[in-house]
Amino acid sequence: MIRITKKVFTDLAIYMIGFGVVIGVVFPLFLLAVGVDPALALAPWFFILCVAAGIVVGLINILLARGIVGSRIEELVMRMRYISSHLMNDKHEDIVNNCNPEECLVKVDSQDVLGESASTYNLLVQSLFSSIKSELLVREFTSMLSLRLELEDLALSVLPTLLATTAAESGAIIMERDGELFLVATHRVNNPENLLKNDVLVEAMKTRKRRLLDLPEGIVVTSALLDYVPRQVCIEPLLYHDIALGAVVLAAAKPFSENSLHFLDLVNASLAVAFRNSLTYDQLQQLAANDSLTGMYNRRFGMARLQEEYGRALRSGSPIGLCLFDLDHFKRVNDTYGHPLGDKVLAHVSKLIRGVLREGDVALRYGGEEFLIVLPGASLTDAFQIGDRIRRVVEETIFQHGSQNLNLTISGGTSSWPDYDASSADALVRKADEALYQAKESGRNRIIAL
Ligand code: GH3
Ligand code: MG
Ligand code: MG
Repeated sequence: MIRITKKVFTDLAIYMIGFGVVIGVVFPLFLLAVGVDPALALAPWFFILCVAAGIVVGLINILLARGIVGSRIEELVMRMRYISSHLMNDKHEDIVNNCNPEECLVKVDSQDVLGESASTYNLLVQSLFSSIKSELLVREFTSMLSLRLELEDLALSVLPTLLATTAAESGAIIMERDGELFLVATHRVNNPENLLKNDVLVEAMKTRKRRLLDLPEGIVVTSALLDYVPRQVCIEPLLYHDIALGAVVLAAAKPFSENSLHFLDLVNASLAVAFRNSLTYDQLQQLAANDSLTGMYNRRFGMARLQEEYGRALRSGSPIGLCLFDLDHFKRVNDTYGHPLGDKVLAHVSKLIRGVLREGDVALRYGGEEFLIVLPGASLTDAFQIGDRIRRVVEETIFQHGSQNLNLTISGGTSSWPDYDASSADALVRKADEALYQAKESGRNRIIAL
């Protein structure tokens, strides 16, 4: 169709009225041809009447086109304007979360090209909204990642969000350090340690590829890994420079949606960076806090932990016990077997000590072959009993050196608050040192409580 003006409806009006005029001109000639009296057919008034009727029909047509087609197009334009103005004003969150279908979508009320354009528009808006939603989700998720540095803290905040976003019921975050897998966070997984030995997990980490395991309905999982019946398990290795640092395991009662898997694609890299930073931070923390030979806290860090525990004991009023140990005649071990063996023995003794302690107890290398243990909640009697258990374990242990067997003993002094009304943590340590001195003086291989 040849364009006359810049407006489609004006062009249409010109064509319709023009066509009406043509019909008005041709109609009298048609009447002549079918035998109508020429006096009537060619009468000027009749001619004018026919042309006028053609013009009226053209005008009615254009009004109908504007009313029926134009109104629908206008409605579509109104919705487009509404959405684009929100998007341009950066009100993405607003429009996506509060969009009312009446305002954003168009009613599809015909099966022709107009109906098709309305439903295509609706689809377009829905997919635009879903991509904005996932962008917002990723943005929120990644900003949350940057707030956490401690490994456990990070994992505990990440896991619930991953579960909620992917509609998974249970899951775990697993990391690798020094070639060994360990759990950082779990949710609704029975015996999560079993996951660490799972072949599929190990395989997914090795191939660095996501694994989706479908569990057909009717098959009941007997491994007792989960306390509900999952339909699909997703193992997502976290890749940092193409190396799997660990994996996220998610299990859901129905298969994961495309959106959920796409979300995992989008956040994988930022998750890996965040966990990489946390692992490094954790390692640095350990390096700064731990004595490399014994794996116990070093003196500086351990004494700070003592201050913390002492302060907590004072505030809560619950007792706190100390036990200060010194290996007996350790110089002889060095002199007889050499310093390197002495080091091995020290490492072994510290392992024995840690084996006796409970979670929450603090052990530090106080000096060369001196160890201090801090026992929150322990009275003087408790501290003595724990100290004596350690003494016996060391006494009963045979340290092997080639074909030779080496025996060793340890002496210890214990003190406790409030049994001893120490004015400070240091005063409590001095009391334990005094007790240790007495243990040495009175013959060694014993614990003295003061
Ligand atoms: P006792 O405590 O029973 O009085 O006798 P001792 O021989 O153990 O005497 P003391 O505690 O004074 O001596 C500590 C010795 O421990 C001195 C040093 O040779 C040894 N020692 C300290 N630190 C280390 C270490 O890191 N490695 C090794 N191999 N030996 C150490
Ligand atoms: Mg000593
Ligand atoms: Mg000694």
